[in-house]
Amino acid sequence: MNYELTIISDGRRLSIGKMLCLGKNYVLHAKEMGSEPPSQPVIFTKSRTAFLSNEGEVVIPSISNELHHELELVVVIGELMRNVPEESAMDGVLGYAVGLDMTLRDVQSRAKKRGEPWAVAKGFDTSAPIGEVVLKGDIPDPHDLQMALYVNGKTRQQGYTGDMIFRIPFIISYLSSIFTLEPGDCIFTGTPEGVGQASSGDRLDAQIQGLPSLEVEIA
Ligand code: MG
Repeated sequence: MNYELTIISDGRRLSIGKMLCLGKNYVLHAKEMGSEPPSQPVIFTKSRTAFLSNEGEVVIPSISNELHHELELVVVIGELMRNVPEESAMDGVLGYAVGLDMTLRDVQSRAKKRGEPWAVAKGFDTSAPIGEVVLKGDIPDPHDLQMALYVNGKTRQQGYTGDMIFRIPFIISYLSSIFTLEPGDCIFTGTPEGVGQASSGDRLDAQIQGLPSLEVEIA
C-alpha cells in the first residue's frame, strides 16, 4: 500500500501526513444527523493508513453492517504551520482534492450513545479515499464549488462548498492552534446533506467542480 497523493499538474507525489476532519460543517447535514450546527468546530482524526487512492476498494470491517458515504472537499497542506492567523492561513495550502469520509454509521451511533470516541467508526483502513490534487492557484475560490456524489450512477449528495459553516482560513488557523500542520496533512472540511448507505458492489463517483473525480468501489 502506498500512502502518497498525486499532484495532477506535474505528476509529483506527496507522502500523506495526518488527516484532520470536521464534523457537522454544513447546516443541513447537522440537521439530518439530528444535531444543531456546532458553535465551534467538531474535530476528529484519521491516520494515514486510512488513505485509499482513486479507483481503490473500500473494505467494510466485519464489526459493521452500515457503511455511509460523506462527500468532502479536502484541503492539502503544503507548509509547516503553527498558530497561523486567518489572514495568512491560505499561504500554507498546497491544493485541493475530492475526498470521501467513509463512516461506519452503526459503530458511530453506538459510540455517540455511550460517549465513546469515533476512532473506529471514522478511522478504519480505506475510510479516506482522496483523489488527485489540484494546486491552489488553479482553484480561484474553494468556497465556490459545486459538489455531487453518485452511487451506481444515481445522485445521492449535492452541495456547494460556499455553505460551509466554518471556512477554510478559519479552519486552518483554528487547527494550527492545536496541531502542528505539516506538508501532506489533509483536512476534510465536512459533508453536505444526503449521506447514506453504501453496500458491497456499489460504485461511488465523487465530483467537485474543477477537481479530478474520485471513483471507488465497495468490496
Ligand atoms: Mg465527514
